[in-house]
Amino acid sequence: MPKIQILPEEIHSKIAAGEVVERPASVVKELIENSFDAGAGFIKVSLKDGGKREVSVYDDGEGMEPEDLKLCYHHHATSKVKDLKDIFRIVTFGFRGEALASIAKVSKLTIISRSQESPEAYELKVKYGKEISFKPVGFSKGTLVKVEDLFANLPARRSFLKSARTETLKIVELVKGLMLCKPELKYELRSGEKTLILWEGGSLKDLISYITGLPSEKFLELYFEKNPYSFNLILTDTSQTFSHTRYLYILINNRLVKDEKLNRIVLSALKPFFGNLGFPAGVISFYIPYHLVDVNVHPAKWEVRLKNEKEVFEILLKALENLFRKKSFYFSEKKPFKDKDRIKEDLPVEYVSFSESFSKPFERKFLEKKEKSFQFQKKFQKKEALFKEEGFKFLGAYLNTYLLVEKDEELYIIDQHALSERLIYEKLKAQNSELFSQELLFPVLLRVSETALLNLEEKLEKLKFLGIEIEKVGENELILKKLPPVFKEDVKEVVEKLLEEEFQDVESLKDELLKRYACISARKKGDILPKEEVNFLIEEMFKKNVHTCPHGRPLYFKLTPYEVEMRLKRKL
Ligand code: ADP
Ligand code: MG
Repeated sequence: MPKIQILPEEIHSKIAAGEVVERPASVVKELIENSFDAGAGFIKVSLKDGGKREVSVYDDGEGMEPEDLKLCYHHHATSKVKDLKDIFRIVTFGFRGEALASIAKVSKLTIISRSQESPEAYELKVKYGKEISFKPVGFSKGTLVKVEDLFANLPARRSFLKSARTETLKIVELVKGLMLCKPELKYELRSGEKTLILWEGGSLKDLISYITGLPSEKFLELYFEKNPYSFNLILTDTSQTFSHTRYLYILINNRLVKDEKLNRIVLSALKPFFGNLGFPAGVISFYIPYHLVDVNVHPAKWEVRLKNEKEVFEILLKALENLFRKKSFYFSEKKPFKDKDRIKEDLPVEYVSFSESFSKPFERKFLEKKEKSFQFQKKFQKKEALFKEEGFKFLGAYLNTYLLVEKDEELYIIDQHALSERLIYEKLKAQNSELFSQELLFPVLLRVSETALLNLEEKLEKLKFLGIEIEKVGENELILKKLPPVFKEDVKEVVEKLLEEEFQDVESLKDELLKRYACISARKKGDILPKEEVNFLIEEMFKKNVHTCPHGRPLYFKLTPYEVEMRLKRKL
């Protein structure tokens, strides 16, 4: 029996719609982007029930002629692409002509619009993709798009939507991000009777200060150019960091992007300046020539593909150095690095001269008999007194995961995650003695299951003892209200998991908490670490004489020259 059948239009268009429209926030995004493209000076978004009942977006842009209004909700209806070459030079926000078509399919859509030239405004009503009415109405200028009862015809999809509060929060976050693309415009966001955002238009720096609630003096700003790229950086320094990257926005050519790979590049570049102190708030805005970036990989256009990631990373690093006017905050207890020869600068002088003058004779001797090598070791040990305890040479990172280090003629293979985790754990332990807690600016919502609610009171009591204050607010909802300063809000992740488990005594609980928090804050497998950080980690490892991760697993193993040699002679 043949199995393949072509899906009826009804079904495949709904599936396609789901790719563009996932939730009310995606509707808001598409509509605001259309308002941008229409050259609006003012954009007003109103929500009912988190956008589930209604999303409406008004703009005072160019509007649509009645003929265009009648067409706009059809598939591939766009005024933005006339021929193929336009696709490779995307300047406008939308261009595939899919947004209104998708939204129309899964909601009750009303569009009222009037272009400057038309004497009258028209109102179009579409229900689940079918036109219901089209008639002239009174309306001054611009466009009003109203989307009601999203996914009412797709109950399965609708059931995936979160509470009105959560959907509203998603929209607030989204609108903030979109505003950054055009800070000069005026915006209003209302939810029912409440005004959530009101922005009169201004500079990018003032806007980021409005969005984050931080005073604008907290932000450093720098414009940095290196052909063919340029950057605009507006960031806080280490005096103001966050445990999350929610306040860190990345724009490419004035367009907000959320791209895993680009995030990694940005975070790797920030790490030397922030270490484990958290993340800055602000905007990193890249201007990249259109031929070096592809912004339309994803249907919702969050993702980008850069032609030359490494180059962008290096220039960003340079730009950050200029912005912060130093090589690194994180390692500020160390002497500053010079531009050249950072490794040598960072190492005891004796080590450098030693390894240079001795590597050759050693190699020769090493190939001789073991006893001789032993003799050499003795000589070496004497010589060692000349160099400072931490003398080592970083050879490179294997798979961006294992640090290869030469020290005392041995090869160390160090797990970077485990090492970073251990050092953070030590730091946390040292700092955790101050147990006073601080009220969080924004309480953090914790999501837990029924299991976590067992013995909840006792658990909360124990956590409170550790300075972590949690309050039960709803059925399965808890909020995190106070934290000791050693933790940032991302401790939420750890606390949520801990709550699901049975609690030990307070001491073990504390240790477990610190261990797990160290684990999530630590460098991960595959992270590219800047040289300064590698040096810092390795130095600390030798200085603190640590050998295991907080869970007791070894941080490294090492090979002696003898072992290497024997392996090559196939005797091991
Ligand atoms: P796209 O934006 O990809 O072209 P959309 O489905 O979002 O596709 O919109 C289809 C067309 O409708 C747009 O090309 C534009 O001509 C018109 N349009 C949509 N929203 C507006 C608006 N707010 N103001 C003026 N024209 C609009
Ligand atoms: Mg569009």
